[in-house]
Amino acid sequence: MTSVLDHHSANNNQNLPTQWVLASNNKGKLEEFKRLFAQENLDVTIVPQGQLDIEDAIEDGRSFVENAIIKARHASRISGLPAIADDSGLCVPALGNAPGIYSARYAGEHGNSAKNNAKLIQDLQSTRQKQPNTPIKGMFVCVLAMVRHADDSLPIIAQGLWHGEILAAPQGDGGFGYDPLFWLPELQATAASLEATHKNSISHRGQAIQQLLAQLPL
Ligand code: IMP
Repeated sequence: MTSVLDHHSANNNQNLPTQWVLASNNKGKLEEFKRLFAQENLDVTIVPQGQLDIEDAIEDGRSFVENAIIKARHASRISGLPAIADDSGLCVPALGNAPGIYSARYAGEHGNSAKNNAKLIQDLQSTRQKQPNTPIKGMFVCVLAMVRHADDSLPIIAQGLWHGEILAAPQGDGGFGYDPLFWLPELQATAASLEATHKNSISHRGQAIQQLLAQLPL
């Protein structure tokens, strides 16, 4: 079958394989990418890196975009295929944009959301006490990087920002990570109270994927 990419790449003389690696093994992210790529009629099969025995890259960048590129290049170098990676987290301006790229291990233990949330509440206590009636702003950030090959000098970059406020106590049972503390004043709900499809349609990740898709075919 001729894909949009094949068709376009013929025009651009870029014969990209139609199998791309996702530099993540997160099931939710994989499903979201697959769904949106299918919706755009992009004939690209997305394979999670674990399926190709690719281990996680060392994320030693100093920004979301650096880490996303590091992860994408790593997956592409090992697989020999185009690769997409995302790096995401929560930035709170009152904390100098912490937890930022350290969101997953803010409290020291990778992926311990209960501890990360408790630390965030604790770290914002003095700010809240100083201005009890002022909401504390925060934003979820998602940066996507797509490389055609490991040494691609022109990675495709997309960045989604989702603005909200940080609560002093968790609310809602859904989602993951910092979702129960992320309040959306316009919806009068936390990210943890939204249906997954609703969250995906407006979230930082949803926005970034849409932006990436808008830059395809290459
Ligand atoms: P990762 O890039 O998926 O590893 O995400 C990094 C960390 O940022 C996660 O472990 C979460 O703590 C946080 N994070 C990223 N996206 C979200 C989200 O949509 N909801 C809640 N927390 C998130």
